[in-house]
Amino acid sequence: MNIPFVDLKAQYESIKSEIDSAISEVIAGSAFIGGPHVKAFERAFAEFCGVKHCIGVGNGTDALYIALKALGIGKGDEVITAANTFIATSEAITMTGARVVFVDINPVTYNIDVEKLEEKITSRTRAIVPVHLYGQPADMDPLLDIARSNNLKIVEDAAQAHGAIYRGRTVGSIGDMACFSFYPGKNLGAYGDAGAIVTDDDELALRARMTANHGRIDKYDHEMEGVNSRLDGLQAAILGVKLRHLPGWSEKRRENAYMYNKYLDGTGVVTPVEIDGVKPVYHLYVVMVKNGLRQELREYLKSKGISTGIHYPVALPNLKAYAYLNHGKDDFPEATTASQEILSLPMYPELEEEQIRYIAGAISEFVNS
Ligand SMILES: *Cc1c(COP(=O)(O)O)cnc(C)c1O
Repeated sequence: MNIPFVDLKAQYESIKSEIDSAISEVIAGSAFIGGPHVKAFERAFAEFCGVKHCIGVGNGTDALYIALKALGIGKGDEVITAANTFIATSEAITMTGARVVFVDINPVTYNIDVEKLEEKITSRTRAIVPVHLYGQPADMDPLLDIARSNNLKIVEDAAQAHGAIYRGRTVGSIGDMACFSFYPGKNLGAYGDAGAIVTDDDELALRARMTANHGRIDKYDHEMEGVNSRLDGLQAAILGVKLRHLPGWSEKRRENAYMYNKYLDGTGVVTPVEIDGVKPVYHLYVVMVKNGLRQELREYLKSKGISTGIHYPVALPNLKAYAYLNHGKDDFPEATTASQEILSLPMYPELEEEQIRYIAGAISEFVNS
């Protein structure tokens, strides 16, 4: 059996007529930049997140950069984030001129270790960027306490967690601002690059919107310099169609994750753990493979037609890109260990029980051979 890591084609086939007519409508109306489709999607996505404002931008990395800029973060500032995330998170921090400060992860949730966070706060720290990695909400309540008592802002990186719930609150509505990516493979994916910033704060929303559009409100009235990072009409129309299906797709992802948990029970691979009171959205289904067997298992699964991934193979502080921070190789023990043992199994809403059984069966065979 051949099982891809993600299957974007299966999803398109299931909503083809809706998508095709949305695309035709944008082209017929020449509503390529801005316009009614962008406005409608921004309204719908803000409502989905439970916040007042959504600003569509060019991609998730820009969303993070623009949100941090809107908060006034720049040279001389420090911003804290997790050691295990996609490099876009830390890149956006550096792009503002601020210094990125990494915190190790909790080995059970793979998210930022809140207990190791406070020791990283200095007089220059301005913000924390928690990442809801793999669609699992970071532990936000203790983070909010730390932020409040140290006068720090929180920008959620929700690029992998559209619609995840943390103790009754939708991810994206918990921090001061939040950023989403609509990269095609994300839970809510466009047919190209796209992203968004959401916030409840009127002034931050206005500043983010201006920054994303050359620092202007009106056509040639530039109050400052900004960037060109806009959500385009075609992507907005596609996202608008897909947003209506997202709750159902998230439910399917959760069902698939629980099926994996059931079928992998007893194999010795460590399955994901949900913290109290959360409803994750399983952007990725990540297991831990102990005893140095990950690579061998990966190859075995490949020989059975099963594609897997690693998110991420090198913890950010250990990358050459961050050699200038002069970290020792034991400074982030949990993130480093995780990077050597984690394995992402195929995960998408269209995955069938039979496929999950086949994957778990192959893992079982490998373990028992
Ligand atoms: C995908 C991703 C981003 C960046 O989004 P792009 O749209 O690809 O720029 C940022 N943070 C995390 C955690 C991501 O997974």
